[in-house]
Amino acid sequence: MNIFIHVDADPDRGFVGGNKLIARHGRQAYDLKWNGLLATLNYLEKFTDKFQGFGLGFKSTFFLRADEQIKNLYGTYCGAFMRFYDNIRQLSSVGWHPHLYRWSNLNRCWYQECHDNEWMRKVLTDCHEDLELHGFYAQFAKMGWCFHNNTTMKTLSDLGLSADFSALPGAKCLGHLEGKSVLDVYDWSKTEPQPYHPSEEDYQKAGGLDIFEIPLTTYKVSGPLVFLYTTKLTLESYIKFRLRGYSPSSQVMFPLGLLNLSKKQNLKKILELMLKLKENDYITLYFHPDDLLDINIQNILENVILRLFSNAEKHGVELSFVDASELYSLIRTK
Ligand SMILES: [Zn+2]
Repeated sequence: MNIFIHVDADPDRGFVGGNKLIARHGRQAYDLKWNGLLATLNYLEKFTDKFQGFGLGFKSTFFLRADEQIKNLYGTYCGAFMRFYDNIRQLSSVGWHPHLYRWSNLNRCWYQECHDNEWMRKVLTDCHEDLELHGFYAQFAKMGWCFHNNTTMKTLSDLGLSADFSALPGAKCLGHLEGKSVLDVYDWSKTEPQPYHPSEEDYQKAGGLDIFEIPLTTYKVSGPLVFLYTTKLTLESYIKFRLRGYSPSSQVMFPLGLLNLSKKQNLKKILELMLKLKENDYITLYFHPDDLLDINIQNILENVILRLFSNAEKHGVELSFVDASELYSLIRTK
């Protein structure tokens, strides 16, 4: 079983004192803060050494922001790549994390564009060109808010990307309000957990596009898994995500985000469940760098991984870390 650690390398989010979605070039407080990213890189350096001491070669992939908002704030799409690419590469591989943020003159804030196909195609294309022009070859992507539609998926495929890691099989969110910004719109309600080449007519289903869609790990809540709903952990995330506009029909446990594991309940059961998953020969664990500004979360990351390995040993499962490129190669050659 392969473990794919997947990091959405966003700047600090609003709740840790970061981006408030109203900052624009020319305004006083336009700069994004990246304290979370810097702290996480610092932490992972020690973490990687420590894991090497245990004989575990730690790997991860950071999907770094390059999009319209970054261009507006830094003057170029690859502003964040220019600042952080070399630092991240010392510890991790780097993918592309485009958020389709668009400025609303009416509401004076950034919002998630998810309807204007022409605009989305142009931004993704221009951004990818700019990355290449500056020597950053984006072979793998994770979309902001996990959003895709037929146009964005075909665009990434046309641009020659090898794989996208945005799918949350079974999950759907109609979006929620943050200030005046509507965010978090996505739909993977028809998607199966196995990697697939998306269809041009329906990005959620298998078809003939060149790009690979490699889904994140989600759990269907049915049959024997219902017992997990009786735990505080899952009940809390269920209520929280329902309140934030997640579709009640998407009967999936939120994917294995670090924050979901930060509650102590039933961690052992969840880890065992992960190891028994037969749908794929990989599991994903993901987080945002600003999660690790909290020292408790740093300890949890370490604890989860160490316990995962000790549980795997008990179950006779061999675990290893893979990055995006290795996971893609494994899947492609299967
Ligand atoms: Zn993001």
